[in-house]
Amino acid sequence: MAENLWTTDPREALRAHPGFTLASMDRRATPGWGGDKAQGKAFMDSRASLLSELQERLFAEGRVGGKRSVLVVVQGLDTAGKGGMVRHVMGYVDPQGVSLASFGVPTEEERQHHYLWRIENKLPTPGRIGVFDRSHYEDVLVVRVDELIEESVWSERYDEINEWEKQLVESGTTILKFALMVSHEEQGIRLMERLDRPDKRWKYSTGDLDTRAKWHAFQEAYQAVFDRTSTEHAPWYVLPADRKWFSRLALTEILTRTLVEMEIGWPSVRWSPEVQRRNLAKSMSTASLVESYEDTPAVVTEAMEETLEVRRDSADLLDADPDASEQRIAARRAEWLTDLEETLAHKRELLAARDDAPALTADIPGIGSKTKKAAKSKKSKKGKKKSKK
Ligand code: AMP
Ligand code: MG
Repeated sequence: MAENLWTTDPREALRAHPGFTLASMDRRATPGWGGDKAQGKAFMDSRASLLSELQERLFAEGRVGGKRSVLVVVQGLDTAGKGGMVRHVMGYVDPQGVSLASFGVPTEEERQHHYLWRIENKLPTPGRIGVFDRSHYEDVLVVRVDELIEESVWSERYDEINEWEKQLVESGTTILKFALMVSHEEQGIRLMERLDRPDKRWKYSTGDLDTRAKWHAFQEAYQAVFDRTSTEHAPWYVLPADRKWFSRLALTEILTRTLVEMEIGWPSVRWSPEVQRRNLAKSMSTASLVESYEDTPAVVTEAMEETLEVRRDSADLLDADPDASEQRIAARRAEWLTDLEETLAHKRELLAARDDAPALTADIPGIGSKTKKAAKSKKSKKGKKKSKK
């Protein structure tokens, strides 16, 4: 079991608070994380199941009319690790639940419209996590540094972006903005590697050196972005990016904690499972109905354990009072088990109405003992984890 070595909530440790100065940030630092690289990678991987279930819940919520979505904006200079970050985060979740958009030099058509037009077209729909590889922030970054438009125009955009993001948040989108900040030295090393490796040369563009020459101007432009657009409703997280494992770990953790705090449950249904089960059973042979009956406890309790594990991880993250949260988890378990008993009773009733049904006992081997055993083993695992801390 990977250890949670976050000593500070990474959202606190990495947020661009008022007065944040980029110039004094150590790009090799690992703020908030008390472990090394191997521990960081192990802990990040241990978040995979939680993250993937939370994403599935968000998706399910969107399916039944929920309005919430999450937008992850990833900004950074060449070689900061945006692409790898995006691939990595997407790797943790179901592809149908995420939408990716990359923003390059605007096309002819895009230039005919307001700069937010192409961004709006790519916003995540309800239930989805949208990931932006570059974003509308290029319209106050590269545009400013390369003097593509007049200052009087781009200088108005910060407030406009804040207002636009505010409306987005009000309509149900949680916005997380990440800036991957690589040092000048590390950027040189990474560009050199692209030149050295035949398999990486495609990533290099001959214009990369011109952009690198403007490294300091970009730092100033980023500083202005943090000063002007790190808002309460859509804060910036500035990730030191010289150690890729750290920036990935931090983004994964911030995304996970954000989803946990959204308290996304499984949607309840508006139809009756009993009526549907009865109708479905009519189309099933007695043999397959018996098989389904016998599998029910294992299938349901396994799903229950997964759900309860997510609740437990979530409660840990939220630093909930452990006793209170164990009580809530026990109450949830009881609900699941009551539901399971009702399901089994219903299936027995359906089978009893059939002439060719075998005699069934109410007592499927393993049901009572299995769930109790599972509960115990989780508890002891938990105890170990705690004592290691
Ligand atoms: P890459 O991310 O390496 O594919 O490069 C995309 C390029 O598009 C970068 O050089 C960006 O600076 C540039 N780009 C993105 N958005 C804009 C924009 N709104 N105006 C001008 N250039 C942009
Ligand atoms: Mg590039």
